[in-house]
Amino acid sequence: MTEKNKEIISKIKNIITNLSKVYGPPIWKPRLKPMDELIFTVLTQNTSDLNAEKAFLKLKTLGSWEEILKTSDLKIAKLIKSGGMSNIKSKRILGILQEIKKRENKLDISFLSKLNLDDARRWLTSIEGIGPKTASVLLSFSFNMPAIPVDTHIHRVSKRLNLITKKTSTEDAHYILEKLVEDKNKYSFHVLLINHGRKKCHSRNPKCEECSLKKICHYKKL
Ligand code: SF4
Repeated sequence: MTEKNKEIISKIKNIITNLSKVYGPPIWKPRLKPMDELIFTVLTQNTSDLNAEKAFLKLKTLGSWEEILKTSDLKIAKLIKSGGMSNIKSKRILGILQEIKKRENKLDISFLSKLNLDDARRWLTSIEGIGPKTASVLLSFSFNMPAIPVDTHIHRVSKRLNLITKKTSTEDAHYILEKLVEDKNKYSFHVLLINHGRKKCHSRNPKCEECSLKKICHYKKL
């Protein structure tokens, strides 16, 4: 391991300790059932969790995933309108459901918990419409696997803290950060950096003057 990487690993440990004091130590607990988590995460693409939640609840009024699979994309698009990009997302959701049904003969992905992280991620991302972020959210939130979903907040904060370079793409950041963050800290890292991005390290006008990480952040505008 390079000296640079050792430095970043130690910095990450400090960040987790520091942000845990500010926001409280995150404790993992399963959020939704695996199929629900997967489709909910698809609905969160390019919108807020709040809008996605409204769309998800409306979608679930149709009944089971089997019932939803029998529904037309137009009807689904109407129901999930609040989640944005509804015409694209309705087709994406139906495509994912069809593929899972074809592979497993049922709409159940709980078997993924028995696979290792790489195999589970490979299985998921080989389905059109499931990218590294969606796969990582599902694997982390439903199965407590050591995956780090990288959203816009984590990407931005990681760049500002020099954990990744300015040129690192969101997709590459998944693999780079997963190598740098210890397994036992991955969930905490994900939750704490999102919190920090939402509450202090905003995209525009980050609150650097009141940030607990300002001493180790080179981005700060003090
Ligand atoms: S000092 Fe500013 S840029 Fe750096 S992490 Fe804190 S809020 Fe973000």
